[in-house]
Amino acid sequence: MSRAGLFGRFAALATQSAADIGQTRSAGRAALAPLRRVWRRWFSTRDPFAATRWRLLAWNVLVLTIIVVIVGAAVYVNVARTRAAEIDQQLRMVALEQAQRVESHERLEREGYLAEAPGIFLIVGDVEGRVVDDPRAVSVPGFVAASSLATALAGQPNYATVSARGTPFRVYSTPLIDGGRVVGVIQTGTSLVPSQQELRDLLITMLFGGAAGVALAAVGGLFLVERALVPARRAFARQQQFVADASHELRTPVALIKATTEVIARDPDQPVRASAELLADVQRETDHLGRLIADLLQLARLDSGQLAAELGPVALSDVAREAVEQVKRLDLARDLSLSVVGDPNLWVRGDLGRLRQVLLILLDNAVKHTPPGGQVTVSLQSVHGWARLAVADTGAGIPAEHLPHIFERFYRVDRARSRAEGGTGLGLAIAKELVELQGGRIKAESMPGQGSTFTIWLPLTKP
Ligand code: ADP
Repeated sequence: MSRAGLFGRFAALATQSAADIGQTRSAGRAALAPLRRVWRRWFSTRDPFAATRWRLLAWNVLVLTIIVVIVGAAVYVNVARTRAAEIDQQLRMVALEQAQRVESHERLEREGYLAEAPGIFLIVGDVEGRVVDDPRAVSVPGFVAASSLATALAGQPNYATVSARGTPFRVYSTPLIDGGRVVGVIQTGTSLVPSQQELRDLLITMLFGGAAGVALAAVGGLFLVERALVPARRAFARQQQFVADASHELRTPVALIKATTEVIARDPDQPVRASAELLADVQRETDHLGRLIADLLQLARLDSGQLAAELGPVALSDVAREAVEQVKRLDLARDLSLSVVGDPNLWVRGDLGRLRQVLLILLDNAVKHTPPGGQVTVSLQSVHGWARLAVADTGAGIPAEHLPHIFERFYRVDRARSRAEGGTGLGLAIAKELVELQGGRIKAESMPGQGSTFTIWLPLTKP
């Protein structure tokens, strides 16, 4: 192989490995991207949910800490109590067993001492309280607890916690009784240091464990809180978009009115008649503004829950017939054939006024989008406890890509056309909210070029 060839291969290898490193780096960067996003979001000062998020997290941690402390305290107290009861029980057992081994209480002679009671000392005393026997060589001058001794000599077995040479002891004193007479006393005792050490260890383990648990939960909480905020964020973004859209929609008629009135004002000597067309424009825009404001107001009331439905039995068939008559009377239908078919006696649980409004919105749309000679049919049916009302037209239909958005606020397939026909782009959004307010569902289907069908489902009822 020529030198140039070798060099070329090395060069190629070197470039490749450099590219590999570059790739690994960028892959690493890509893997870190979500973390960086979370980090940036968490410490962004522009996030409107920042305060809420920290507050939620703080509450999470606080509640968890309280739970951990309560549970920890309960465990600690329980262990401490059990341990203390065990010690007492042991002291008593040893003392009683030893009492049996004292052959003659009169002479306080021992038969032998218990070998198997590690860590427990034992003292036998006479009626005077003098130490007769100290087999474990406690070398305590007298009894560890003098008052316990007195109580025991008075015939009362008793427990006491005392401190001897700086060490806490638990002692049990019980009388030696012979022929109904107290002839001496046995005292058993043990140092509390081991059990205190045990409890201290437990406490330290629990403190560290609890703190680690709370810290871990706080880290997990960061993600949980972020997830919990997702719906709120979405609603907030939707609301912001809505306000922006509404402002935009309101601006257009206002700008048109302003421009038109300026034209009129430019020539104040003109008779009003000469400006009739311009004034008609102003009127049209004012009407549009009025409709827009009314629709916005209704949506705002729906959003805030102020607009409640008064639910009761409503003759849906009658409402449909009346709405169709109204559309015909207003001559909105021009050369269309409007009809109501199907069940003539369908009752639903709903709100009469709201149902009327929904029907008028759907009929108005159908009529607007159906060319002369077409048909608009309202059909009524009862299906498994539900009333199905469909408004079908033979109009232009809605292209499939627009269909999923048709109930969104301000969404219009043809914005210019909707405006020219006086539409606000809010009709279907309002219709949907109103139907859902009454516990119903609304759905749109369409075959472009053949027509659209808007179907409402409402719970059936009896008159
Ligand atoms: P608009 O005020 O524009 O009518 P809507 O919310 O009532 O607002 O309707 C939204 C859009 O849905 C309309 O702009 C129109 O493009 C489309 N649309 C509604 N009903 C029909 C229909 N029956 N046929 C065809 N398109 C329709």
